[in-house]
Amino acid sequence: MKIVESACEECDLLLPSAFVSSGSKLVCPRCGHTISDVASSPLSYPIAFALTSVIMLALTYAFPFMSFSSSGNTTTIYFYQAMSSLVANDFLSIAAFLLISLTLLPLLWLLLVLYVHIALYFDKAQLSFWHLRILQLIKPWMMVDVFLVGILVALVKIMSLAEVGFGLSFWAFVLFTLSFLKTLISVDLHWLWIKLAGPLPPYEVPDNAHSCAQVKLTHCHFCNAINPLGKHHCCRCQSKIVHHTRHKTTHCIAFLIAAIVFYVPANLFPMMDMQFLGQSEPSTIMGGVILLWQIKSYPVALVIFFASVMIPISKMVAIGWLCYTCQRNRPEDAKQQLKIYRITELIGRWSMIDVFVVAVLVALVHLEGLVTVYPGQAAVSFAAVVVLTMLSAMSFDPRIIWDPSPQSEQTS
Ligand SMILES: [Zn+2]
Ligand SMILES: [Zn+2]
Repeated sequence: MKIVESACEECDLLLPSAFVSSGSKLVCPRCGHTISDVASSPLSYPIAFALTSVIMLALTYAFPFMSFSSSGNTTTIYFYQAMSSLVANDFLSIAAFLLISLTLLPLLWLLLVLYVHIALYFDKAQLSFWHLRILQLIKPWMMVDVFLVGILVALVKIMSLAEVGFGLSFWAFVLFTLSFLKTLISVDLHWLWIKLAGPLPPYEVPDNAHSCAQVKLTHCHFCNAINPLGKHHCCRCQSKIVHHTRHKTTHCIAFLIAAIVFYVPANLFPMMDMQFLGQSEPSTIMGGVILLWQIKSYPVALVIFFASVMIPISKMVAIGWLCYTCQRNRPEDAKQQLKIYRITELIGRWSMIDVFVVAVLVALVHLEGLVTVYPGQAAVSFAAVVVLTMLSAMSFDPRIIWDPSPQSEQTS
């Protein structure tokens, strides 16, 4: 018999010890997944970066963000106008998405990071498991970095039309993005769970056991503790346990089908409508790419083509392929399947670039009688495609890739 403490969340491999000290890293020996990566000062780094991020976020809202001028006319916008211009055009859902993914969730996440780390310094009795669960749940939905790239793409699109100026808030937003990314890297949830819930309870398993599923165990998605299969709530953190059975792909397939349905109007209707000297020029996603290519903006044409055409299509194909091959259950495919799953998870949110480009252009390009940009119907469908493919990828549990096949279960 041997003692194990935890399991890899991506390949289900049993791990003898899951304790990680400051300044070190724990990587799964089978699939290479980083289980924990603790900063050398795991309490003070997150506090310093999160505090900088909150200040920079406040400054992002305080001063003019950008200006747009042509023939003596100038429009100056504040950051909040990226959302309020969409509300004025009756695109409430996209405005709400921007507000949530660029301000509300990042702010909630940063304040929680500050609260949790400061409480760990002084009095951890103030903390509940819910604080860590929320930190984990909202992480994929913050899109600050994607928006910054969206602004840069929007700038290249309109550079030929007029002069663009940067306000103080633009630089505050750049600093906010950088310090926010540093905060994300410096916070290690695995380490926080050990600080809050104590060491992981050890389990005795047979020497030849490799994965949880093999010995009728499962592991908690939140705190990484091992639990007996069939338990509904984790013995360590009381979170609901998600069991990875093969019919789990039904959620994944349902979100995928919904995404494919929304992808049709996202391509048929215009993303935005640029009215230049009274003439309307609506453009679809592909129309926009072709136009950019014709005016020789090759890098931007490629960015939009990858973000809005290649990534969504390859993501939908990849998720469909993963669901299909997992039913076939061939262990020799596991490494390749996991690689595709990780790429799909990583690139998914970047498809939002085109929606953010539209939001920036609608707010910024507004010169009476000269040029004005209006959002198009496809923006809503396209944002829905991105959210649905993200939900689909999230509901795919990579542990099913490594599950023992039904035949070997029957023979064992
Ligand atoms: Zn692993
Ligand atoms: Zn747990």
